[in-house]
Amino acid sequence: MQTKFIFVTGGVMSGLGKGVVTSSIAKLLQLSNQKVSCVKIDPYLNYDAGTMNPVAHGEVFVTDDGGECDMDIGNYERFLNQNMRKTHNITTAQIYSAVIEAERRGEYLGACVQIIPHITDEIKKRILKIADDEHLDFLVVECGGTVGDIESLPFLEALRQLRLELGPQEVIFVHVTLAPSLEVVGEQKTKPTQHSVQELRRIGIQPDMMAVRCTQPLLDSTRKKISMFSNVTSTDVFSCHDVPSIFSVPQILYEQGIVDKIFTKFNKVGMINSAANWDKWNNIVNSMQNKDGEIKIAMVGKYVTLTDSYVSVNHALKHAAAKIGKSVSIDWIDSEEINGKVNDLVKYNGILVPGGFGSRGAEGIIKTANFAREKNIPYLGICFGFQLAAVAFGRHVLNYSDANSTELDPKTSHPVVDLLPEQKTVSNMGGSLRLGAHDITIKPSTIAYKAYNASHVSRRHRHRYEINTKYLPEFEKHGLVFSAESDNSKRMEMLEIPSHKFYFGVQFHPEFNSRPGFPEESFEAFIQASAS
Ligand code: GLN
Repeated sequence: MQTKFIFVTGGVMSGLGKGVVTSSIAKLLQLSNQKVSCVKIDPYLNYDAGTMNPVAHGEVFVTDDGGECDMDIGNYERFLNQNMRKTHNITTAQIYSAVIEAERRGEYLGACVQIIPHITDEIKKRILKIADDEHLDFLVVECGGTVGDIESLPFLEALRQLRLELGPQEVIFVHVTLAPSLEVVGEQKTKPTQHSVQELRRIGIQPDMMAVRCTQPLLDSTRKKISMFSNVTSTDVFSCHDVPSIFSVPQILYEQGIVDKIFTKFNKVGMINSAANWDKWNNIVNSMQNKDGEIKIAMVGKYVTLTDSYVSVNHALKHAAAKIGKSVSIDWIDSEEINGKVNDLVKYNGILVPGGFGSRGAEGIIKTANFAREKNIPYLGICFGFQLAAVAFGRHVLNYSDANSTELDPKTSHPVVDLLPEQKTVSNMGGSLRLGAHDITIKPSTIAYKAYNASHVSRRHRHRYEINTKYLPEFEKHGLVFSAESDNSKRMEMLEIPSHKFYFGVQFHPEFNSRPGFPEESFEAFIQASAS
């Protein structure tokens, strides 16, 4: 079986939603019973997203196998309800390191090592290997960045070569651009799109399809103009106008006939039922539009200036609310600015503290965790929010006034949260946290057990610090229960206060396992408690 490839490029500017177009095309193929997956190419020089500031670049998405990936991988997982491996996020650093290491081993046998063919070969090898290893019918590859960027050139060149080598029956290019309108009902401008296609053709790539972002549906005249200037048949120019939910994008592309067009290009038309499996997906998408009451959540965190920093948490809250027919409104509150305003949190149905690193804003989180406990407001603490809930309990219930995590105060006399022992010798920051999926054992007769309805789950992690088990007896004596653990009770994974309306914390990141129609259990329990 030969995998068919769809390469998605982007023009005009970043942030157009190439990831959503990529995921939507993949979803449509999956709904047509095809085995499909996605790859994200990130042309930046970081080896992975792990060392990048979430406020600048959005959330770091963690895969089961411990990859610290671009947040688009999260979109792929949510759209396809399918786990991705870390190999599905390719960066410049990974490619160059592999080539340089091979050169040092002498594998190029004296050749002068160059971008073409050595770098481009390495890129092609990785893409083909994924298709092969996973026996895919289709692989949709999204090339990050904007056509014209210096960094993306070797990747686009590799994709161009793949089309030449595999042939037009095996590879198509979809180019995502923007048709801006200057006023709400104004004319849709095509010049930026024209220029970006010219740039793409200059490097040897002629797009087969155009996906054009616009506020209102693409006008027929705009479509024709784009068709003429980009040398793409007008029926292959697709409107990607604004819709209330990203999960409706597959529908609007489908209505414009994109699935049949793709199958025609690949000579598969008539062989595939492109309308299969729509009902289940439509039910899920419709349930997300339900507005039978709103749950107000305060999300108190460190990286709130960019909501994309917590994109999976935002989604997970929505999945959970949709399950009980409600919508959720989220106020993102900067933990650095909460001092003195913590009482305002009383107006929320629930308080969520997501992950975070470092001392800035940590005191605000500790106050928030304590406030939720004292006022009996549903609380969900994730990773940092779990650790600092334990710190707050240490300070205000155990009365250790300087209780802390050694991440925030290395000299605290009560280190209720401390460095993982194996981290003590770690010096490199990249890829060195406790990462990826680990098995967790849940104690019977706990809130955790009720939420998960299981004694064993596997969830994804990304941390360097953990609960100091020396304090367990004291915590438990005062009503804080550690209801799940891992690594033969060495690590605490969940905490709860049974006497509270809902006070729950998890060391892992449940948001990465939440999918439309299938909310992750701790989010579901939190939202249910917040709604009641
Ligand atoms: N900074 C904490 C740690 O390293 C929490 C990490 C997180 O929230 N992802 O353990």
